[in-house]
Amino acid sequence: MNNVALNTTQETGWDMTIGAAAVPGSRFIPVFDPVTGKPFAQAPDATVAETDQAIAAAAAAFPAWAALPWAARAEKIRSFGLAIREENSALARLLCREQGKPLEKAVSEIGAGLAYLNAYCDMVLEPAVLKETATQRIEQHHRPLGVVGAITAWNYPLLLAIWKIAPALVAGNTVVVKPAPSTPLATLALGRIAARVLPPGVVNVIAGGTETGERLTSHPAVRKITFTGSTETGKRIMANASARLKRLTLELGGNDAGIVLDDADPRAMAADIFWAKFSNCGQVCAALKRLYVHRSIFAPLCDALAAFAAGVKIGPGLTAGVQIGPMQNRAQRDRMEATVEQAVAAGARIIYQSEIPSSEGYFFPITLLADAPEDAEVVRGETFGPVLAIMPYDDIEDAIARANDTEYGLGGSVWSPDVARATALAERLEAGSVWVNQHPSMDPHVPFGGIKSSGLGVEGGLRGLEEFTYLQIVNVKK
Ligand code: NAD
Repeated sequence: MNNVALNTTQETGWDMTIGAAAVPGSRFIPVFDPVTGKPFAQAPDATVAETDQAIAAAAAAFPAWAALPWAARAEKIRSFGLAIREENSALARLLCREQGKPLEKAVSEIGAGLAYLNAYCDMVLEPAVLKETATQRIEQHHRPLGVVGAITAWNYPLLLAIWKIAPALVAGNTVVVKPAPSTPLATLALGRIAARVLPPGVVNVIAGGTETGERLTSHPAVRKITFTGSTETGKRIMANASARLKRLTLELGGNDAGIVLDDADPRAMAADIFWAKFSNCGQVCAALKRLYVHRSIFAPLCDALAAFAAGVKIGPGLTAGVQIGPMQNRAQRDRMEATVEQAVAAGARIIYQSEIPSSEGYFFPITLLADAPEDAEVVRGETFGPVLAIMPYDDIEDAIARANDTEYGLGGSVWSPDVARATALAERLEAGSVWVNQHPSMDPHVPFGGIKSSGLGVEGGLRGLEEFTYLQIVNVKK
């Protein structure tokens, strides 16, 4: 790969970064363009030996990196951020090409990643004196863990990678990053940028699928896994990590409910509710996935959502003005088709379905489904795509009970102009984040994480940073 500026049109030569070296890999997997459904590049598929080399490079780099003063690490990570910014437009095109999202959204994804990176560089985990007497002094320190394995999903490849790399590095760890096999290219490019500005081995990026991931999560030298992906894979990772009791942060699936109260104005809220679900073509962990609407405004809200949806432009991410691209991969697109078919067979009504610009690729219509039964997959499972289930309720207690009747607990929201009433109800939703009149809303200084099958631990804020450290107590008898 070119070391001065990224070439985003190449088919091959998407090297991994192991130590400072660009490693082409020894076997390959095709990367598909979600707009056409055709392969457009080849990415490496790291073998066990290559994965081990990356872990060894991270382990070798750890002592010197951990020994740097906190501020010196932060300064180098800021330089990494500046180097990413310089490649912003090439990275955004690459992200758009492999992920399918509109170019403008790819630019915002990188911008959001950089906001997190810089916020982490401003955070410090200060040592504290817990006790000081004439005979004793007890201090608490945050120490880095060592090599961190970072595994990401395909919906926000660069944002998720930066969410993991930045706090791991600030806290003094080194990392091996593995993106999803369907969206490896932008993250591989990130590895080459890191190699330009950071000491060798501090950031290593490999690509591959389940075999690579399993090696990374079970290798004895990896002390912590930070993972974003499905609940099923999260459970598997937890099992693999148990042999060595590795630390874990697991950001997993969600089935967030939104509740619209009887005093809400359907037309005023339609746009925000629409984007709460359909941003990134509905492929968002903390998207609004089930909408419970008071029966008195059910029909007007369905109409307002359908009217709004009709004005949204779907198309290839590189086409100007497009707001929603194709889904990222065929398996997920096919899952949406099956989910809608099953819901309709179970009695749900399609109240709106958009046109799609092409039958090629992984486009799926924006779909609004009313009255799906609670046991339909579209209500019970995680609908990770552009399909929204909208159900009426009569009694707010029943709506809250249905919202909480799920194995997931990532986010939830309540919508009403009466903010105090909505807030009191939102606090009763069993989820790691609850929002009022928005869904989701993220901030680099605010922890984000799920309960139940939605995960373990948090990302963001000082609490997110702490997850990349262990507490060391220094207890001195004077
Ligand atoms: P996935 O679990 O299939 O894959 C995620 C990553 O795990 C990929 O890199 C994959 O190669 C790797 N992997 C697969 N099997 C593995 C194994 N046995 N050991 C180690 N690694 C393995 O998830 P996905 O389909 O890529 O992503 C969609 C899911 O991610 C959705 O459920 C979504 O809700 C979730 N997600 C959660 C958050 C969050 O912050 N909670 C954010 C984004 C996405």
